[in-house]
Amino acid sequence: TWANVEQGPPDAILGITEAYKKDTDPKKINLGVGAYRDDNGKPYVLNAVRKAEQKLLNDKLDKEYLPITGLASFTKEAGKLAFGADFISSNGGNIVISQSISGTGALRIGGSFLGRFYPHAKTIYVPTPTWGNHKAVFSDSGLGVAQYRYFDKNTNGLDFNGMKEDILNAPKNSIILLHACAHNPTGVDPTPAQWDDLSELLKERSHFAFFDMAYQGFASGDIDKDAYAVRKFASDGHQVILCQSFAKNMGLYGERAGAFSLITSNPKEKAAVESQIKILIRPMYSNPPVNGARIASLVLSDPALRSEWLSEVKDMANRIITMREKLQNHLVNDFQSKKSWNHITDQIGMFCFTGLAPDQVTIAPQNTFKAERLTRDFHVYLTKDGRISMAGVTSHNVKYLAEAIHEVTK
Ligand code: PMP
Repeated sequence: TWANVEQGPPDAILGITEAYKKDTDPKKINLGVGAYRDDNGKPYVLNAVRKAEQKLLNDKLDKEYLPITGLASFTKEAGKLAFGADFISSNGGNIVISQSISGTGALRIGGSFLGRFYPHAKTIYVPTPTWGNHKAVFSDSGLGVAQYRYFDKNTNGLDFNGMKEDILNAPKNSIILLHACAHNPTGVDPTPAQWDDLSELLKERSHFAFFDMAYQGFASGDIDKDAYAVRKFASDGHQVILCQSFAKNMGLYGERAGAFSLITSNPKEKAAVESQIKILIRPMYSNPPVNGARIASLVLSDPALRSEWLSEVKDMANRIITMREKLQNHLVNDFQSKKSWNHITDQIGMFCFTGLAPDQVTIAPQNTFKAERLTRDFHVYLTKDGRISMAGVTSHNVKYLAEAIHEVTK
């Protein structure tokens, strides 16, 4: 029956973790997976989350189904966190918010909803490069996927002119996917002034802004600062879609806590859109998981837990920022690398796009690529595009990592 099913390729990122696990060298480092690690390289459960879990356990709650759009206290808090409490209190009557299976599920709801109902276009424009799963999520949602320029290989920074040109030249009413902050995989974000320009440009072209916000708080350590783009677009009147994940900023990865929002024009439109969102979700997974939403809702609404959470978000972001500084410093000062490596500290968020991508011009020893040499010769695991998860760098392995990077780039 299944003889015609071809073997598919393994997932690019999960495959790296498998290879890492098999490696017996004590110096090995896993910089593939995008999950936060503490300074001992261990997964980290936030104290605020542990306390919320304890309280939920003591409350002996039942395990009844949630409504299709999830836990109302959670979606309300998620909306306030992203858009700001003021915006929600004046525009809440027009915003549809549904709980989702974390950020990925929110993207899928958004993609499917646009595929079904957006009258102007069936193609979404994503940055080059973007998170590997975007293309699959959107094409499985029935959308075509096109690209706009984003990363400048020469500067390891933003190709803002290229980005603007491509967005300007996209047909009017195009759907434009934007990473709200801490762009994955590049770690390169527009500045606030550049976001202002983009908001104007999208308005001018009547484009539809589709925000993926998987890292609120992770870029700067400040959840309000990281929400700049979303809030700017919303206050400029863009009726955005927003996909939120609590995987990283609350460490709720496997709990799958996320939210999908869409701003409409009035309460009647909101009710109609919400009814269609329910019709869309029901046959996909019926209703979302309750536990992560309860945890996030409690952390966001209890003042003591919230302030503990905010300080833990800051600590996570700061640890990553410190590792960026140390990595750059070791490369330049200890190993006397001739490259500046400023992009390591200029980039933000979970990832650093090292510039170690396969490079046809480089004839490295044995014709292997730099990223592959890091793995083969130094037991450092990363994706082939040269992206490293800064969360996997610790004060114990940062000097060794710098040495390894220096060796493959001299
Ligand atoms: N968008 C981006 C850009 C991401 O990096 C991620 C996580 N890797 C997600 C969305 C969604 O993650 P999750 O489904 O775990 O919330």
